[in-house]
Amino acid sequence: MKVLVIGGAGYIGSHVAKALMKSGHRVRVFDNLSSGQEINLFKQNEFVKGDILDYPALLSAMQGQEAVIHLAAKKAVGESMENPMIYSSNNISGSLNILNAMVETGAKYIVFSSSAAVYGMPEKIPVDETAPLNPINYYGFTKLEIEKFMQWYDRLKGIKFVALRYFNAVGYDAEGDILGKERGSQNLLPIVMEVLSGKREKLKIFGNDYPTPNGTCIRDYIHVSDLASAHLLALEKLAGGMPSQSLNLGTGKGTSVKEIVEAVERVSGKSLPVEYADRRPGDPAVLIAAADKARELLGWQPQYTDIDKIVETVWRIN
Ligand code: UDP
Repeated sequence: MKVLVIGGAGYIGSHVAKALMKSGHRVRVFDNLSSGQEINLFKQNEFVKGDILDYPALLSAMQGQEAVIHLAAKKAVGESMENPMIYSSNNISGSLNILNAMVETGAKYIVFSSSAAVYGMPEKIPVDETAPLNPINYYGFTKLEIEKFMQWYDRLKGIKFVALRYFNAVGYDAEGDILGKERGSQNLLPIVMEVLSGKREKLKIFGNDYPTPNGTCIRDYIHVSDLASAHLLALEKLAGGMPSQSLNLGTGKGTSVKEIVEAVERVSGKSLPVEYADRRPGDPAVLIAAADKARELLGWQPQYTDIDKIVETVWRIN
């Protein structure tokens, strides 16, 4: 299939672009390189530099494409609460431009990067797709709204979508093909790597008094290459007639912050200086996916279930 990967120079997008290319799809990457990097591009794939807010450029890049993978978004939760305006324009208006361009060019399928943030503070763990959708930050709100726009464009214009609700994306391509480290990420593993490389003095662990076995928060860490394979399967299933869906992507296994620290120490052979800090506002104690629906509908199976193996793929490129 001819596929436009929007945000294909970014952290997750570059892994998706690789998976598509390897299974014989014709990939065109569209990216404004605001957080994506040229080093993440594959020479086999076409690249168009452009911004989703530039409608004529987007429309021109979409000509002749049958499907779209949309990963272009602002994704810092804290920033979304302080500066919702850029999330409104980039995430919401940008996504509407993409849907409108799809109608105009005749592209039929879209796989969208959604997030577990659409659930907010879930009452039941593991979280399945029937859980209430109550985002507690503006970032999560934008993801949920875009899912709703896609439902309407499906009803009104027949555009079929899969929204993939990622839990905690981690890791790097194990074959070493993707070397562009995320810049300025506020996520746990990138911060841990900055501590190991001496860029930061210590890791601040946000809270050690949660109602979990060791008091630190538990998350479902899913390897980025497993996320990538789900995009590929979603696209192929849509083309095979699967109706539109929203699907969780996680391993179903929880790992605490302290267990991440221990895994990093085992893998790197270094000790990681940590200090306990206050809880971070808005952090649920435990967030674990029920991803049975993705397994059943897509035939998807995460390959990385061992946290040390995941951490190894991060440590290797740092
Ligand atoms: N975390 C932490 N210190 C940090 C960054 C993150 O203790 O400097 C914790 C955070 O409280 C959460 C987990 O690590 O429990 C994962 O956080 P991240 O920001 O990577 O992802 P989130 O779960 O917020 O999507």
